[in-house]
Amino acid sequence: MRDGAIAPAGGASETTVEVALAGRSYAIVIGEGLIASAGRRIAAALPRARCAVVSDANVARLHLAPLKASLEQDGIFLGSAVVAPGETSKSFPVLEKLCETLLELGVERGDCVIAFGGGVVGDLAGFAASILRRGVRVVQMPTTLLAQVDSAIGGKTGIDTKQGKNLIGTFHQPSLVLADTAVLSTLSPREFRAGYAEVAKYGLLGDAPFFAWLEVNWADVFSGKDGKRRHAVETSARAKAKIVEADEREESGTRALLNLGHTFGHALEAFAGYSDRLLHGEAIAIGMRLAFTYSVEQGLCPAEDAARIDAHFRAVGLPTRVADIPGDAPSAGELLRLMAQDKKVMGGRLALVLARGVGAAFVESDVDMGRLTEFLKMECAGR
Ligand code: NAD
Repeated sequence: MRDGAIAPAGGASETTVEVALAGRSYAIVIGEGLIASAGRRIAAALPRARCAVVSDANVARLHLAPLKASLEQDGIFLGSAVVAPGETSKSFPVLEKLCETLLELGVERGDCVIAFGGGVVGDLAGFAASILRRGVRVVQMPTTLLAQVDSAIGGKTGIDTKQGKNLIGTFHQPSLVLADTAVLSTLSPREFRAGYAEVAKYGLLGDAPFFAWLEVNWADVFSGKDGKRRHAVETSARAKAKIVEADEREESGTRALLNLGHTFGHALEAFAGYSDRLLHGEAIAIGMRLAFTYSVEQGLCPAEDAARIDAHFRAVGLPTRVADIPGDAPSAGELLRLMAQDKKVMGGRLALVLARGVGAAFVESDVDMGRLTEFLKMECAGR
């Protein structure tokens, strides 16, 4: 893999990453234009299964027709269900309606649901598949950068309630992931950039050479030049697959590393009302910079590593400071209250993913709240 990291240009037009889980292993296929061959690929992976496609209105308008044609060509298209775009579709009312639509389309025990969209569709359709007829198979076809490098891999599904995000859900591994990198070209630049924060996360948490590669090649990843976008997606998917293999159900702590920047980021997202004011990836970019700066201040991490992250995110156009969020800034107290609701609080103690340097994240399971408060006061005051 490391050779590929240095010279990813050219070569085959697609790559397969295996997720090895006893009895639930699957392939992630990454390449340009995979939609055209989706029918053949799914028919080969899931013989005799017919497919119902779940999508949102944006993705359906832009990309459903070629997927439908491909499934029809192989005689496996049952129909489609289209939900409204956005986080609000991850709700009980939409889930109920979706399950009924899937039953009306005639999905049987041996059939499959295709989750064709971003993380919202992936989580919602994956959840519906996991409970429909006590569980039917799901194929994830992620269409956002975030979904291709993160949410479509690893089997976490779910919806939101008024008590919080992703509090109701299941683990339901997909049978196949098809990541067509060509569909990323219709994403808005802002959505692409937000997803890029999760790509950079893999470098920051455990792969310093990958982060260094991104510092040099990010513009080509954005423009899709020379297969570098595919290389970035592939390296990220491989990193996520390894973590999921090591800790499928987030029991041993390995999977918690994926939360680098997320405890800060989720609090900022909640503060901004989960709105356009701050996209998830933007919040995570600020959160990762905060995690590294806090690590520097605890004497854990060289200051130049935090400076590199700040410089890189600024270069790609991602926010890095609390003050970058449009509108009023939160107070340190507000952020701490929101962080305390995080799922990483155990027995009243807050765990944070910190770092000893770029590529060297670890879980600190007993954070000193006094120091954290002082740190957040400085950050919220706009230093
Ligand atoms: P999203 O699914 O809301 O997609 C973002 C926007 O892009 C939407 O408006 C969508 O319609 C549009 N879109 C999608 N694909 C497009 C394309 N190819 N061209 C044009 N527009 C397109 O958001 P997201 O960032 O993909 O996912 C966020 C969700 O993922 C959150 O609900 C989060 O909780 C979840 N998530 C889940 C996991 C997991 O492990 N299951 C991990 C991370 C995030």
